[in-house]
Amino acid sequence: MTLNNLTDLQVEQLRRSLLQWYNKQGRDLPWRRTTDPYPIWVSEIMLQQTQVKTVIPYYERWLIQFSTISQVAQAELQTVLKAWEGLGYYARGRNLHKAAQVVTQIYESRFPDQLEKVLALPGIGRTTAGGILSAAFNQPISILDGNVKRVLSRLIALPVIPTEALSELWALSDRLLDPDQPRDFNQALMDLGATVCTRSQPNCVECPWNFACEAYNKKIQNQLPIRKMSVPLPHKRIGVAVIFNDEGLILIDRRPEGGLLGGLWEFPGGKIEPNETVEQCVEREILEEIGIAIAVGENLITIDHAYTHFRVTLQVHLCRYVSGTPQTIECDEIRWVSLDEIDQFPVPKANSQIITALKERDRLNNLVK
Ligand code: SF4
Repeated sequence: MTLNNLTDLQVEQLRRSLLQWYNKQGRDLPWRRTTDPYPIWVSEIMLQQTQVKTVIPYYERWLIQFSTISQVAQAELQTVLKAWEGLGYYARGRNLHKAAQVVTQIYESRFPDQLEKVLALPGIGRTTAGGILSAAFNQPISILDGNVKRVLSRLIALPVIPTEALSELWALSDRLLDPDQPRDFNQALMDLGATVCTRSQPNCVECPWNFACEAYNKKIQNQLPIRKMSVPLPHKRIGVAVIFNDEGLILIDRRPEGGLLGGLWEFPGGKIEPNETVEQCVEREILEEIGIAIAVGENLITIDHAYTHFRVTLQVHLCRYVSGTPQTIECDEIRWVSLDEIDQFPVPKANSQIITALKERDRLNNLVK
């Protein structure tokens, strides 16, 4: 089967079988119990790059903290990022905050129901817009997230990498979408990808589309979609300083808003250059970035962490402030905080591990006293 030779009858059979399956097997997800576009929008943004089971507690906490769009708009960015802490891909939280301000100012806090207006909001692309408008307003707008790409690639046994056939996959998603039940159809398609047509070991025997699926009929479902040859992720070694002053306070800084992990707080540090020890790196970086001299002490913890495009190893050292006035040379803000206060600040995941290690060290020190 290809998009071009798909008959109206086949399309009708595919719609009917998927919707019947969804009526019996569809997941009961919290954002499916409403047609209010605000919580649906929040869920769609959280679900970009993150699995349902991780999203649910964040989604529920979010709606308790920010029950309306205007509450998000009025909140400090730091408060929004704190609520997002641990979900990763923080640009999503920053964009949600910006978009909430646009919706509040331009649309009087009512989420727009026109595709071009939704697409103009920060952080909303075509598939997210389709997800929101079909779920909230039952509009016949198709979707093409990662799960749907996989299902459709297998359905037509796509012979190329999905990213090389996006217009064909979008056209297929458009063609299949049931214009009478777009909300349920899109949700069903997402569920099929998440629960049956999974990345590894798709459960074709139970699949409502097995009668028409090219990949299944050719027994190549485990080989599809075709993947790009994977190349090893670049690896960076980073020296990190936990700097204590004479009062026992710790220095943290806020990353510039535009870049990776923008707006989050962290312990300062930087890349270890070739032929440099971690101690030399930490001393140099803190002088260059914060403008202060420190004495580098023992290793607190070493953390390996993977981002989408690279891996890092953080070698974290306990340090003592020696001299100079901290300056915001490569960050937006600097604070001296106690270990108890640090939890109020949104930090990246790897930095949470540093805080846990500091608390554990503190606990052990108190036992010894
Ligand atoms: S039959 Fe198998 S490969 Fe085809 S859509 Fe269903 S689960 Fe996916």
